[in-house]
Amino acid sequence: MKKSICILFLCLFSWVYVQAQQSAKLSVHYEELTAPDYVKAVGQASSVCLLPMGILEKHGPHLPLGTDIYECRKLAETAALQEYCVVFPTYYAGQINEARHQPGTIAYSPELIWQILQETCDELSRNGMKKIIIVNGHGGNNDFLRYFCMSQLHKPKDYVLVVFTPETDQETAQKIEALRQTKTGGHADEEETSMMRFIRPDLVKTDLAGTQSGANQARLSALPNQYTGIWWYAQYPNHYAGDATKSSVELGKLLIESEATQLVKLIRKMKQSNQIESLQEEFYKASANPLNTKQ
Ligand SMILES: [Zn+2]
Repeated sequence: MKKSICILFLCLFSWVYVQAQQSAKLSVHYEELTAPDYVKAVGQASSVCLLPMGILEKHGPHLPLGTDIYECRKLAETAALQEYCVVFPTYYAGQINEARHQPGTIAYSPELIWQILQETCDELSRNGMKKIIIVNGHGGNNDFLRYFCMSQLHKPKDYVLVVFTPETDQETAQKIEALRQTKTGGHADEEETSMMRFIRPDLVKTDLAGTQSGANQARLSALPNQYTGIWWYAQYPNHYAGDATKSSVELGKLLIESEATQLVKLIRKMKQSNQIESLQEEFYKASANPLNTKQ
């Protein structure tokens, strides 16, 4: 009798161990999962999927075209390894019309970037990912993404879409300030160059950083109080904003890791909370019969 209990416990222990090993082995990368493992991954991730959005564009004379792809994917991967969720494969269909004059820019039409993002989210939802977090790595996407999110309210959706919006706390800001050696920035600058030196130092051509100007040329300064699509080109025709002759791996590591810490918190909250889902449902229901909404 005792022997059979021992065997039973041994079998149970082995089963638990194998299950734990199998779940521990799940890759965070969507493209690396088998179909059976994908099903487990959706469960382990509580239906949370990160969608890192990069772009293919010039990054000054010294950084690779895919800089934003590397940055947002590193950020997403760092967070997903701390709080399990799935990271969508390389994605670069974003808004980048302002760099069409520079070599290597892939600027899809406004209609296509909208449709491909919508269908990607819809397909993720159809495949069980009901909580999608866009991790944007490209400033030119900011306005597009906010409008895209607002537009999701036009028709009922069976999933939640959020854009990760990191904020630098005072302590981190002071650390960044202490490490930074330049005052200007915005694109392919000291910060981005530092991040790339942390992620893929082999792709950074630091010696070329000073061969073009990243200064604001302010060519529309005589026309205040307006917004126009050519504003970025008016300021930074070299598609370079800042001075990347100075950079450090330490700064790059701090920038990635401090944002990853915030992203981990968002992933955890998204797993625990259904607040957005509830509000959406309430809103969709009320929107179907606005005359019934209490006045
Ligand atoms: Zn960039």
